[in-house]
Amino acid sequence: MQVKAVLFDLFDTLLLIEKGEEFYEPSLKKLHETLARNGINVAFEDFKRIYFEVRDELYYKASENLEEPHFNIRISQTLKRLGYNLNSSNKVVAEATKAFANKFACYVRLDEDAPEILQKLHRKYKLGMVSNFAIPECIWDLLEKFDLKKFFDIVVISGEINRRKPSPEIFQKALRKLGVDSHEAVFVGDTPGLDIKGAKAIAMNAILIQRKTSTTDVPNSFIWRPPENNMEHKPDRIIKRLKELPEIMEDC
Ligand SMILES: [Mg+2]
Repeated sequence: MQVKAVLFDLFDTLLLIEKGEEFYEPSLKKLHETLARNGINVAFEDFKRIYFEVRDELYYKASENLEEPHFNIRISQTLKRLGYNLNSSNKVVAEATKAFANKFACYVRLDEDAPEILQKLHRKYKLGMVSNFAIPECIWDLLEKFDLKKFFDIVVISGEINRRKPSPEIFQKALRKLGVDSHEAVFVGDTPGLDIKGAKAIAMNAILIQRKTSTTDVPNSFIWRPPENNMEHKPDRIIKRLKELPEIMEDC
């Protein structure tokens, strides 16, 4: 088989989120501070309680319909329940989302092998990125910050198209933009129930990056992931580091 394109997941594949969920409380505090500055007068603990209630309801819906409502909708719905009628396009809501995203970004670091490997693969294959994320503008900022944009021919973010992995549409959109068929592409990701399941369902080759041997890690709940049963969604190959990719690609 002639591989023409390699598609990557972003978080915990190319960019690593440090210290698990530690970013959540400080990021939410920054968001809350922004709202307070704009006249929203709610105690942080009350805001936090309602926020998680709304978030979990949205996650549940997303797991069923595979849609990805923008993070602004989450904030707008939280505020509505607290008696503030601000729609998702309100600039106060957008500013609050930005505050959250900026703090979150402080916890994100680049995988040390990523630039070299992307550079190598970019010479030989078309490269794409497909990410599930409700704040697309945060991803564009991170790609800029880590100077990764130059490696990718296309970037598809769930929050921009309202479809999330493992829906076939998000993968097909990426393939269409790259101009390759599914059997000519390889997907590399860290989450079997999203990356491997979705890629295999449309006949792409799938490589799982599994940096830790344990599969019982608590899923990162900011980036919603299905409960994992690793054996259920079998990748074609498993790697432990991105460095293994160029050689493995030869056998795909
Ligand atoms: Mg991931």
